[in-house]
Amino acid sequence: MEPILEIKDLKKYFVTSRGTVRAVDEISFELLRGETLGLVGESGSGKSTTAYTVIGIYAPTSGKILFRGQDISVPVSKRPKTLKRAIQIVFQDPGTSLNPRRTIGQILELPLKVHRIGDRNDRRRRVVELLRMVELPEDYIYKAPHMLGGGERQMVAIARALATEPELVILDEPTSALDVSIQAKIINMLLDFQREMNLSYLFITHDLSLMRNVAHRVAIMYLGKICELAPAVEFFENPYHPYTKMLLSSIPVVSEEEEKMKPEKIISQGEIPSPVNPPPGCRFHTRCTERNGICSQELPGMVRVREGHLVWCHLFGKKEEG
Ligand code: SF4
Repeated sequence: MEPILEIKDLKKYFVTSRGTVRAVDEISFELLRGETLGLVGESGSGKSTTAYTVIGIYAPTSGKILFRGQDISVPVSKRPKTLKRAIQIVFQDPGTSLNPRRTIGQILELPLKVHRIGDRNDRRRRVVELLRMVELPEDYIYKAPHMLGGGERQMVAIARALATEPELVILDEPTSALDVSIQAKIINMLLDFQREMNLSYLFITHDLSLMRNVAHRVAIMYLGKICELAPAVEFFENPYHPYTKMLLSSIPVVSEEEEKMKPEKIISQGEIPSPVNPPPGCRFHTRCTERNGICSQELPGMVRVREGHLVWCHLFGKKEEG
């Protein structure tokens, strides 16, 4: 499968009064067409900054973002319109991402107007079609966002993202602000749309357990760096990185089989350090139970432990570039 998105040595730094925040610090990965890549990390890991740099809200400090092989490493205002239309995002909180002064019909029509898709009648038909796709009644066209429940508002946000028939959708914690009862419905809907439209998803989340049944591959971020990336089944069955094991040891499981696969409980040491002054060497060494002398001195390089399974940790094999 061809990569639809290629991230190469991406850095995003922010200069603040406290110093330079290295939110994303030289990361590389690919997203294939029709694939879901789960980008998982704690708060401050850089996962959302990565998403906002891909969508063009932030310009990269350095590095490259390629979409269908074309360089889009610039803010969204400088990107070709056809590419803007092909990459969409669903934010975590539909309460703030939907304009409260517009009706649902206007909200869904806006991307069609911006991208000059169809005439008035075409757009009206498309808005009704979008509402049907997310299983909302047609008369919601006249409602304001505050008249809808949280789950319904997120369905509108998903419909808005799909309005321009994108190829890549960035899902920024799309279910974490919702009740558990509605989360499964939204996830199933997203998976159906992916199958029907061959969509690629970059799924940003702090909820590793959610990725077990949703992602094709999973990447773990810690303090601006990727520390492990693997196909989802392999990732959950054979984790290598001490940080991944720590995260996996504390997620809830639903079956005995999953319980057996879980690494032994690893108690987290301390808090995630500040990205303003990240620790030297391995970013995780201040919390790692397996650290050794080299860990605080040298940044670990990428090691391919199995086909498609990459780990950045001094405990494993021969380093590769990246
Ligand atoms: Fe732990 Fe060292 Fe591996 Fe970092 S490089 S995760 S500190 S063992």
